Amino acid sequence: MLLENKVAFVTGAGSGIGAAGARAMAREGAHVFVTDRDGVAARTVAEVISSEGFRADTIEVDVTDDEALGRAIASVAQNTGRLDVLHSHAGIQIEGKLEQVTVAEMDASWAVNVRAHFVAAQAAIAPMRAHGGGSIIITSSNSGVQIDREMIAYATTKHAVLAMTRQMAADYGKDNIRFNALCPGFIDTPFNRGFETQMGGRDKLEDYISETIPMRRFGTVDEIADGIVFLASDRSSFMTGHALIIDGGESI
Ligand code: NAD
Repeated sequence: MLLENKVAFVTGAGSGIGAAGARAMAREGAHVFVTDRDGVAARTVAEVISSEGFRADTIEVDVTDDEALGRAIASVAQNTGRLDVLHSHAGIQIEGKLEQVTVAEMDASWAVNVRAHFVAAQAAIAPMRAHGGGSIIITSSNSGVQIDREMIAYATTKHAVLAMTRQMAADYGKDNIRFNALCPGFIDTPFNRGFETQMGGRDKLEDYISETIPMRRFGTVDEIADGIVFLASDRSSFMTGHALIIDGGESI
């Protein structure tokens, strides 16, 4: 198993990609802390993992609460004696172009899509350094490497967090703490509901996907979970500061 005896902390793990990544890391032997602002959703994911015979615990935490997020990460490190993987995943998407997005919505996007990753990564450094290193995976998006139409808050913050990931990678390579950005394309989760509405419904969204994505389909959460396990484990031991784009070719 690729993550035997490792401890992993995942934010936004109550649904979608975060949940699939948590399950995949647990299947590889990690003790996974499934965290989400929706405590019921997080508990459901942890129960599935336990029912499959693997290890998971739950913490209800909203990543915009700096103190609670820092405390949750510190308590996991203290109670288990280590922290090997942080997958800082929770994010939000607010649609619209410059004249449509309010300053408050831009600030809200920044708080979840950039600031919370800073807070989480900061809390993970000391316990990772104490055990000779770790892997920090920050969820950006392929919107962090391309410009989307009418998505100013999302594309700007996803570019910013990619820059921050690369900066942290450069600063902490000597501590063997690796930072990589996960950059999915269209993955079929509830996250795309806002964009679906913006496009005019599910059929329109599927038309758009088959016209604009070379592989002509949504990706699955399991296709992203494979990337998460790769970045979390020693399979990517010499990789840091990388943007792992998994998007069916959309950003080519
Ligand atoms: P999802 O909607 O399936 O799950 C998101 C989870 O995050 C939910 O359980 C929600 O409760 C939780 N969450 C939201 N705000 C939170 C907060 N403030 N604190 C704690 N938890 C919070 O979404 P998903 O598909 O897993 O996508 C989420 C992440 O993946 C985002 O960072 C998003 O930018 C990125 N992403 C998704 C796609 C996609 O197509 N699904 C593509 C590119 C990037």
